[in-house]
Amino acid sequence: MADAEYDVIVLGAGPVGENVADRAVQGGLSAALVESELVGGECSYWACMPSKALLRSGQAVREAHRVAGAAEAVTGRIDVEAVLARRNSFTHDWKDDSQVAWAEHAGITVVRGHGRISGPKRVTATAPDGAERSLTARQAVVVAVGTEAAVPDVDGLRASRPWTSREATGSQSVPGRLAVIGGGVVAVEMATAYADLGSKVTVIARSGLLRGLEPFAGELVGEGLRGLGVELMLGAAPTRVARTGAGVEIQTSEGITVVADEVLAATGRSPRTADIGLDSVGLVPGSWLTVDDTLRVEGFDWLYAVGDVNHRALLTHQGKYQARAAGDAIVARAAGAALADGAWGAHVATADHAAVPQVVFSDPEVAAVGLTESAARDAGMTARVVDYDLGGVAGAALFADGYAGRARMVVDEDRRVIVGATFVGSAVAELLHAATTAVVGEVPIERLWHAVPAYPTVSEVWLRLLEAYRSGA
Ligand SMILES: Cc1cc2nc3c(=O)[nH]c(=O)nc-3n(C[C@H](O)[C@H](O)[C@H](O)COP(=O)(O)OP(=O)(O)OC[C@H]3O[C@@H](n4cnc5c(N)ncnc54)[C@H](O)[C@@H]3O)c2cc1C
Repeated sequence: MADAEYDVIVLGAGPVGENVADRAVQGGLSAALVESELVGGECSYWACMPSKALLRSGQAVREAHRVAGAAEAVTGRIDVEAVLARRNSFTHDWKDDSQVAWAEHAGITVVRGHGRISGPKRVTATAPDGAERSLTARQAVVVAVGTEAAVPDVDGLRASRPWTSREATGSQSVPGRLAVIGGGVVAVEMATAYADLGSKVTVIARSGLLRGLEPFAGELVGEGLRGLGVELMLGAAPTRVARTGAGVEIQTSEGITVVADEVLAATGRSPRTADIGLDSVGLVPGSWLTVDDTLRVEGFDWLYAVGDVNHRALLTHQGKYQARAAGDAIVARAAGAALADGAWGAHVATADHAAVPQVVFSDPEVAAVGLTESAARDAGMTARVVDYDLGGVAGAALFADGYAGRARMVVDEDRRVIVGATFVGSAVAELLHAATTAVVGEVPIERLWHAVPAYPTVSEVWLRLLEAYRSGA
């Protein structure tokens, strides 16, 4: 067992682990990145990148169909082989050479193997051939191991070899019939992608669609899915699943049997902490790791947990934001420097609590940041809600014929600042950053009035929302 010492040891080279290590090295520390699968993590190979690549071609065709003149020019179905090939190119055919090269060029040591904490500031990395390396951290160990799909305990489901997000994003063929269990972001996006690719899709979603976002988001996305030919069984739950000669048979709580070629379990995520040696430092294997705002695990001065594994916001961009804060905090602590750890300081992830932006790449798209109306009221705010029909915005009407969509801003009336915004419609993703900036900046409503949207763009919805707010609508 060879020994090596680094300032920082990061477990997991997903987007988040990569960024923590990079930040540490940029701050003058040495860093080792331990990875058991592919450098780049879930996001690069089985999540963000392949899922958006699968969705983009269908979206482009549908957008063209919404503009007279363009619609007539686009007459065929999407080319499935070309879509899958484009997806393969975004995952680099599931090879991580370019990301390993990036890490090495950045001065980070990549250690292949399964990492386990073996005591305070100590990690053991077990290589695929079983060889063990013992690593010691002078400053910090950072857990960035991410999550894996949680398959629900439904009779017969596991034995039926269900797809998880990995198979759904990585498949080299398109099933004729796909049943999707779940109603969250992954379920909605993969139902959209496979409907575009030609599958007959059925969604079985006990709690409806996109719970946690404004209710109108799930309603409009549901209408969009039905428009793509997706069958929605909302309020239904699978009770028994079996793989037979006919395919996968899913019995539901409503007494209906859905038959499909594949079943996708899109029912949430579990932390990958069952086998990372948490017990060696008194933590519970398999648990989410609770952290303070500098991303340090509660009760430890050397252990950090960053990204999905701390359960704050299971999104790549938010994890990378945490990584920048954590990496810089480790560097500052190593130097004995004072931390900027007050709200919105450089060493804390304040936005996790106030302004997490998220896009659902469904059709219509959903883009949301901050609090929903109900979350603002639950937080004790005097929340005022302003809604606007996006179809009534000149720029939107030009963007697509019969543009349908809705926007909502949630205002904290005591401070007269926006605390949340949700947009549903074509191409609303690009509206989101203005909302995020307004929420993070706590820009007074009166000042936002002077942020004039260009004419004629979909962004004019901002003017309409502010007019409606002023008029008391
Ligand atoms: C289908 C799907 C689509 C998504 N789309 C988006 C999107 O569009 N935008 C967005 O922001 N987010 C999206 N997400 C969420 C996003 O993928 C995650 O938030 C992100 O990957 C989290 O990054 P991470 O680095 O924390 O973890 P991961 O990306 O999961 O990386 C963790 C890494 O740790 C490694 N690892 C685990 N255990 C060990 C160990 N013991 N030793 C060594 N290495 C280990 C893993 O192999 C992996 O490489 C999507 C998720 C899914 C499932």
